[in-house]
Amino acid sequence: MALIVQKYGGSSVADAESIKRVAKRIVDTRRAGHDVVVAVSAMGDTTDMLLDLAAQVTPIQNPRELDMLLSSGERISMALLAMAIHSLGYEARSFTGSQAGMITTAHYGAARIVDVTPARVREALDEGAIVIVAGFQGFNRDTRDITTLGRGGSDTTAVALASALEAEVCEIYSDVDGVFTADPRVVPRARKLDTISSEEMLELAANGAKVLYIRAVEFARRHGVLIHARSTFTSGPGTYVLAPGMTRPEGQEGEDMEEPIVAGVATDLGQAKVTVIGVPDVPGKAAEIFKVVARSGANVDMIVQNVSAAATGRTDISFTLPKSDASAALKALAADQAEIGFESLVHDDQIGKLSVVGAGMRTHSGVSATLFEALSAAGINIEMISTSEIRISVVVRGDDLTAAARVVHSAYDLDGDTEAVVHAGTGR
Ligand code: ASP
Ligand code: MG
Repeated sequence: MALIVQKYGGSSVADAESIKRVAKRIVDTRRAGHDVVVAVSAMGDTTDMLLDLAAQVTPIQNPRELDMLLSSGERISMALLAMAIHSLGYEARSFTGSQAGMITTAHYGAARIVDVTPARVREALDEGAIVIVAGFQGFNRDTRDITTLGRGGSDTTAVALASALEAEVCEIYSDVDGVFTADPRVVPRARKLDTISSEEMLELAANGAKVLYIRAVEFARRHGVLIHARSTFTSGPGTYVLAPGMTRPEGQEGEDMEEPIVAGVATDLGQAKVTVIGVPDVPGKAAEIFKVVARSGANVDMIVQNVSAAATGRTDISFTLPKSDASAALKALAADQAEIGFESLVHDDQIGKLSVVGAGMRTHSGVSATLFEALSAAGINIEMISTSEIRISVVVRGDDLTAAARVVHSAYDLDGDTEAVVHAGTGR
């Protein structure tokens, strides 16, 4: 008898009918002879609605009270889910994050899990109950306050529970079938992957893939938790995310082919580009610019500096950052314009970022040439390029992003024979 942790996202428990369906699925797992611990998200868009409500009450919210408010969303779904399981004749007990022993840092809205003390969870399991834990929330010992883990935090709750309870697998359920070679809504020929390494999954998640949250994958990688990303709406296997040293779980079909060079293509329309024009090309200017940008709270991604024009001794520096960070960064730079000595600022929020990810890049040459050739054959202009050991990213016009993703997906032979089925999914 194995212990299985399951996580159900907001779209899987959006209304009473879905909650009943999820309850049946949990009971089926129990019937198969397993202990089951469930981490559940708030119903549908509850968290967004609560955020809206708070914004209507006051433009600036007290972080402690905001966490108090947001944590209530998961309380609703956990109790309803436990009730639905009871009605199927099974014992279930719901716990808040704090009751389940999710100990976090004190950082409201973005707390990190530092310890899991799941005594009550174990007790309930020993008494034969199915355990439901509210995702996305915890408790800080110093402040003795409720905290939340940041948007999408229920994935992390599930992985942390799986690690603490030494679960056999952490199944993360959403409304998509697993991890695809690209977002099937962008690239219809995208294929579902049977397995993916956690390092590749991290790069995909960091570059726009929404199916799993980056912090949960990081946690799983560090603690050796096996993640199985799968759909609430179908019964087939999804995608196993393998931490270092892990192999495909026994009894899972699928041939172990030689590792493909490229695992997948990620797209991101959430970034903007800022260009600082006419920066004096002398030591220290990049440091000044990015100190100012960092102080504005912006999270800079790609950076490109042009060769300076010999005549002027000035250069342009472009960087990308999340669209939501752009106005703060621009304001901060404008305030220090005279001191830094640049000429002007250009803001461009019509960009798209395409990333190609694959562990095979370490050992294969020509991976970037394939990317550039595919884009050039499609007449798509590249504006910026950056690479990591297992990723190549380019910035293109936002309008070109879909076409770019499709040609690149084909160029790496990732296309499936049939169109992927999309159940109008959001990936959450
Ligand atoms: N309910 C929270 C959110 O919408 C946490 C989660 O869904 O994982 O961000
Ligand atoms: Mg949610």
